[in-house]
Parts: sequence; C-alpha cells; structure tokens
Amino acid sequence: LPRHRVAMIGSGAWACAAVKLIAENMAAAEAADKFVSEVRMYVHEEEVGGRKLTDLINESHVNEKYMPGCFLGANVVACSDLLEAAKDASVLVFCAPHQFIHRMVKTLAGHVSKDAIAISLTKGMRVRPEGPQLISELIRKELGLDCSVLMGANIAADIAKGELSEATIGYNVLQNAQLLKDIFERPSFYTTLVPDPVGAEMCGTLKNIVALAAGFVEGMGYGPNTKAAIMRAGLNEMRRFAKALYPTVRDETFFESCGVADLIATCYGGRNRLVAKEFVAAELAGAPASFAELEVKLLNGQKLQVNRIVNQQLPASAVVGYRDAALLPMHSSADHQSSDDLRSLALASSAQMEP
Ligand code: 13P
Repeated sequence: LPRHRVAMIGSGAWACAAVKLIAENMAAAEAADKFVSEVRMYVHEEEVGGRKLTDLINESHVNEKYMPGCFLGANVVACSDLLEAAKDASVLVFCAPHQFIHRMVKTLAGHVSKDAIAISLTKGMRVRPEGPQLISELIRKELGLDCSVLMGANIAADIAKGELSEATIGYNVLQNAQLLKDIFERPSFYTTLVPDPVGAEMCGTLKNIVALAAGFVEGMGYGPNTKAAIMRAGLNEMRRFAKALYPTVRDETFFESCGVADLIATCYGGRNRLVAKEFVAAELAGAPASFAELEVKLLNGQKLQVNRIVNQQLPASAVVGYRDAALLPMHSSADHQSSDDLRSLALASSAQMEP
C-alpha cells in the first residue's frame, strides 16, 4: 500500500504545536510502513533578524518567531511555496488564520490528489454577504476532498511544552477520522472522534466571541462569578446559534473538548480574552488603544480570531456599553426565540461583517 504523506498548511503558533505532534508520530519506527516520515510545512515567508524564516526553521527545526524554543522535529521541512509543500500529500492539514484559507485553496485547486483527505484546525468562519461558510465547507467545495476538523481546548504554547490536552476530531467519514487519529494522537494528546464536524467547528468558531465578553468583564475588574456567568450563558448561546444555522448540530458535541473545555481554556488563556481585557483596561486607564493596535502590541504577529472587531475602529465611547454588552447573553431573550428567529439573526449579523 502507498504510504501517507502529511502536509501542514500553516506555520503560526498552533501550526507549530500541531506539526510537532504529527512529526513525532511520523518519525516513530512503527509508523514507517504506513507514513512517510517527512512532513512538509507551508510557511508564509518573512524576514526574521535579516534571515528567511524558512531557512531558520530548516536549520534549527524551531520557529523562533511563532513558537520560540519548540523543537518541531528533524523531519519537518519548511517550504515557502504552497504547491511544493502540498505536493504528493495524501493528508492536508489546514492550520492558518481563517482569512487566508480562501486564497490558499484557490491556489491548491487542481494540484491535489482526488484521493487526498483534509482536516481543518482553523477556528473561525468565512463570512460573506450571502451568508457564513465553515472553513471545512470551503475546503471541501474548492478542493473536492473530505474534510474533517480538529477542535478542542488547545492553547498552542502548552501543547508545545507537552502538557496533557484533549481534542475532538469531527468527521463525516469514520475511516478518515481513524487515520487522522493515528496522525495526531500522542501520549499527552488524546483525541475523541465525534460524527458532528459542523458542531465541532461551530464550537471552535463561536467560543471566540464569548472569550471577548470574558475579557471585557475581566478588564473591568470583575471576578470569577461574573466570568462564569458569561461562560455559562455563552455556551448556551453557542449551542442555540449553531443549531439555528445548522440544524444537524448535536447537543452532545458541546460537552466534548471542542465545546465546554475549549470555551474554558479560551476564556482563561486565549488571545481574544487577552486583547479584550487590555482594550477595556486601557480605556478605563484613560489611555485608549484600538483592537488593531493591541493585536500588534500583544500578539507578536499572530492574529485575533475575530476579524471585524479589529478592522472596525471601535469608538472610545463604545466602552460605556461594555458591561451591558458583556452581560447581554444572560438577559437576552435568546432562550425564548424560535430557531427561525435565531437563524435570521445569524444571517443578518453575518451579512454585516467583512468578507
Ligand atoms: P488562542 O486564542 O491563543 O488561539 O487560544 C484559543 C484556543 O483556540 C484554545 O483552544
């Protein structure tokens, strides 16, 4: 049987932590019959200290820009050419910010094997005037491949350190999910297979919004009770919103790592929570800073997972409404709204967003 070749499409913090897991599995002696050891990683080329990032990674096997000090694996090869990175791959792992995936799949279209499979680790969705589109849907549509998702409570830096974590693989085709489990699972990284890829991906997308609210109340100096209230109500709204948009979504999925666990991890340790907290704190300290400025200042070249809030300069006066906005989930009438109302609301709000 031909051996599987895995390609990583992305090189940010999460892509580095994930490629380390994959590379360890691919290099294991017992994997040699089934997998090619080399893992090519597509790296958006940039200069770091006057050197090309790909050269630095290929010399040291460390991405000092996005995951300093983390040995990715001697079998990881950084490529700045997307087609070269994906060449001959039978498993394509997408792990880039959601706003870049459309361009990437357009480049890849016609250049990947029809027998390949894909998996998306990207948390976020594409929002177009005609309605939202899951990243896995985009990959499936443009490349004609089965696309699973891997979502979960996965703070990249902690996975890179080897701390125990869990993740959820949402799948349509069980056989593909079993292969993906072999590719990702490590002694410190457990994966659970769930036949609800849409639910898992919606969890990974929507928890970022709740994390903003968690950051807002933290920035205002509120403690764990308020944050817990935000998270409880937020989880409930995530479930209702996801089911309104995609009626096949299953309640059980929200109790997997991709659901409640990722919500907890993100509301305590995620980027959106951090920047939202600093945004409010700066405002209250009388030294306002925009989301775009804080993204640059706090995230070392990484992107926030909520595009619109970065692109739209929020007026300083907006802060006055934060407490109410943050607490809105608890007081909204969402619990009493019909699925049709929620679906219209979802489509209307997404239609206003930037593509
Ligand atoms: P980041 O916001 O740092 O990516 O972490 C959130 C997350 O997705 C954790 O699972």
